[in-house]
Amino acid sequence: MQRLFAAHGTLAYGESVNQIEHALQCATLAEAEGAADTLVVAALLHDLGHMLHRDAASALRAGEDDRHERLGAETLDRWFGPAVAEPVSLHVRAKRYLCAREPGYLERLSPVSTRTLALQGGPMDGPEAVRFEQLAHFEEAVRLRRWDDAAKTRGLATAPLSHFMERVRGCAGAR
Ligand code: FE
Repeated sequence: MQRLFAAHGTLAYGESVNQIEHALQCATLAEAEGAADTLVVAALLHDLGHMLHRDAASALRAGEDDRHERLGAETLDRWFGPAVAEPVSLHVRAKRYLCAREPGYLERLSPVSTRTLALQGGPMDGPEAVRFEQLAHFEEAVRLRRWDDAAKTRGLATAPLSHFMERVRGCAGAR
């Protein structure tokens, strides 16, 4: 995993931070809110699919949805199980949910998130939002989404990757 970050972590993806900065900011926000270890690890690795999918940036430019949340979640499920994988799997749908449910949310999204929203299906309609609320990891997915949205601050200080590795190993061991 450290190798994966070393290989792909400096990839820009159209936001004001690169992948590793984004991942560390997201995990730092989760930790600051006292999230469970599995959710901190989910925050750290929620965009793993972007790093596994080498062409994510070009897919985005070409106007395709790279389905990074599914690719990432499948891998995370093998490594850690559903407590890490499910919030990651749902974090894109959580954006579509918040667009439907929270006034002003859509307007605050970053330019990239706004652009990908249309490719991902746009805001949920009422019945879809109700079904989303019934899912087992609904709350974790929405929390993860909020950290994801906030983790795009250029120059924000975070803990280093090594700080989170004990949790990563602990969650993998619990599998
Ligand atoms: Fe993200």
